Amino acid sequence: MEPSLPRPEGGFATRAVRGATIVPEVVQQPVSPAIWPSATWATPTSAEVGDLLVDATPGYAYGRYDNPTATTLHGLVASLHEAPAAWASASGTAAIHAVLSVLRGRGRILATSRLYGGTWALLRRLAAESGWEVDHADLLTAEQLRAALRDEHTVVHVETIANPSTAVADLAGMAAVCRERGVALVVDNTFASPFLCRPLTLGATAVVESATKYLAGHGDVVAGVVAGSESLVAAVREHVFELGGSLGPFEAWLVVRGIQTLPLRMRAAGANALAIARALSATGVVGPVRYPGLEDHPHHLLSRELFGGRGYGGVLSFDLPHRAAAEVFADACRVFARAASLGGTHSLVLHPASTSHRQLDDAALAAAGLGPGTVRLAVGIEDEDDLVADVRQALATATEGGSR
Ligand SMILES: *Cc1c(COP(=O)(O)O)cnc(C)c1O
Repeated sequence: MEPSLPRPEGGFATRAVRGATIVPEVVQQPVSPAIWPSATWATPTSAEVGDLLVDATPGYAYGRYDNPTATTLHGLVASLHEAPAAWASASGTAAIHAVLSVLRGRGRILATSRLYGGTWALLRRLAAESGWEVDHADLLTAEQLRAALRDEHTVVHVETIANPSTAVADLAGMAAVCRERGVALVVDNTFASPFLCRPLTLGATAVVESATKYLAGHGDVVAGVVAGSESLVAAVREHVFELGGSLGPFEAWLVVRGIQTLPLRMRAAGANALAIARALSATGVVGPVRYPGLEDHPHHLLSRELFGGRGYGGVLSFDLPHRAAAEVFADACRVFARAASLGGTHSLVLHPASTSHRQLDDAALAAAGLGPGTVRLAVGIEDEDDLVADVRQALATATEGGSR
């Protein structure tokens, strides 16, 4: 039986407003967190509002600063990344902006050249508008990092698994170089998720993820997270709320809901991706299939160690002989949907040369590690047989019609 609540007092309009702020105290433990859309929070005294606004006491004062639904998400992400603390933001891009702003100080940023396209755009804008100094280098190994690192660099930004090449970074090796040189290491772990890889345990300063992808996992929310030390996360929080990139409570709730099935989804997507990669390789019709789970992938052993045998993620790529064949392949898919993004329950096919990388000519594509005929598959959790059959029939169509 529901607990009884005090009745609001006053006139009709006053009761209409005040009655909406009377909430039951729930003592039973829910299996799903509450969504708290409240944009502001009341306290018994004015002084307490002031204390909350300057972080003199823990609690909630204003929705852009803190929100109880997001607090649940922060604890969850910190736990999965084995981190002292974590923070959420309105997108992965906002999370990357915040963590790099905080860690760069006044120094230069050294970022991998195999960078997610949105991060390229972010860094290009900050260089043009805000005077950020950014260098790029191919950063997969400790040797490559040592060769590219200069004294002016204060932060290094790399990705666990690169898009769409699926190159895997030696995070422990690069973390050791960063520690030795007194430089912060930020790892964008979006493609791996904490189920496969926890960069903080390997010595990274911060891990950042687009929660839009595997964490939330259903293609229904855009969000980002950062995990790291208490002091780093406190600075990230301040950056996020001062620049206005805070995550809303409904979005935080969706990420919390999605994370509960992260291990199940990662295992299913990884098994499907491996089956597809093997089936594609076995046809002998496509160029080398790039998937870290294949024994002939250049970083197979490294990723087996890095991901603890829990799988190799859901993304793979391969090359068809030319642009037209890749487009025919993508257009022929029936289970795979033609769309950007990854990490959801559903499988997606992308032809980078005509979508995410369409501004690049063939030479620029080659520099980015892909060709006009490259196809990227972001595998979901549907039935393996249906996905393999879809890829086979699309490949048959593309290789019949690919000479047009
Ligand atoms: C999607 C993605 C981002 C950006 O995340 P948003 O939530 O779209 O802002 C950053 N890095 C990687 C590797 C991504 O896949």
